[in-house]
Amino acid sequence: MKCKRLLSVPVLSVLFLVGFIYYTTVFVFIEDWLGLKSPVGILNALIFSSLAFMWLVSFAACVLIDPGHVPPTFVPDVEDGEASDQALKKNGVRSRYCDKCCIYKPPRAHHCRVCRSCILKMDHHCLWVNNCVGYSNYKAFVNLVIYAAMGCIYSMVIILNAALKKDWKYGESFPLKIFYITCGCIIVTLSLVLGTLLGWHIYLLSNNMTTIEYHEGIRAIWLARKSGQSYHHPYNFGLYRNINLILGPKMLKWFCPMEISHLKDGISFRTVRDNL
Ligand SMILES: [Zn+2]
Ligand SMILES: [Zn+2]
Repeated sequence: MKCKRLLSVPVLSVLFLVGFIYYTTVFVFIEDWLGLKSPVGILNALIFSSLAFMWLVSFAACVLIDPGHVPPTFVPDVEDGEASDQALKKNGVRSRYCDKCCIYKPPRAHHCRVCRSCILKMDHHCLWVNNCVGYSNYKAFVNLVIYAAMGCIYSMVIILNAALKKDWKYGESFPLKIFYITCGCIIVTLSLVLGTLLGWHIYLLSNNMTTIEYHEGIRAIWLARKSGQSYHHPYNFGLYRNINLILGPKMLKWFCPMEISHLKDGISFRTVRDNL
C-alpha cells in the first residue's frame, strides 16, 4: 500500500467532489425535501451516508492496494524446460518479453507506461485513483464504480424530488435556483458516466475479461473469422464462476472492497482449455 498515491490532484479532486455531493445531498436537498428531523429524512440520510462511506472505502482501497507486479523470480513456462532464447521463441513466449522492464510477462500482464512497470492482469491505468487497475485492486475498482454509480443515482433522485416539491413561485431567490440547476446538471452527468462505466465493467466481469483483453479480442475474432474459425475468450468460465474468480466465492463479501483473500499470485490463470 502506498499512501503517497493519495497526494495527487485527481485523487484530491475526487475526495472533494464526494464531500461536496455528500454535504449538499444530506444537508441541503434531503433537508429541503423531507427535513432531517423526520423519520423518512433520517432514513434517507442514513442510506445515503452508508453509500458514501462505502464509496470512500472502495476508493481508498483502489488507490492504496497495489495492483500486482511481476516478481523478479518469474520464469515463463517453457514446455521443454529450457529457458534459452531459442526455446522461448519456439514456444511463443518471446513476444511476452517486456523490453522496458527486461522481464518476461506472465499471461494477462501488460506494461503500463505511466507506472513504468509490468502490471499483473492489467485492466487500465486510472488517472482518478492515481494507480493502475490490475489483478489485486480490480475488485476494489468494480466496487468503487458500483457504489459511486449508486450514490450518484440516489443523490439525483433526491435532488429531483427536492426540486419538484419546492414552491419556486414564491419567495425563492434566484441564486438558489442556480444552485439547484448546477447541482442537478453535475449529478445527472455523473450518473450517466458512472452508469455507463458500471454497465461496461459488469460486461467485462461477467466474461472474465480485462479492458485490454477486450481490445485484443476484437483483433483475435477478426483473425479467426478470416481463417474460418471462431474465437472464444480463454478465461470465460461462465457467469457465476467468473464472478467467483474476481469478487470471491462468498456472495456476502462480493461488495467488501478490502476482502481479497481469494486472490492467488496473479501469475498463472486456468484457461477453458485446461478444463477440457
Ligand atoms: Zn514492463
Ligand atoms: Zn499504471
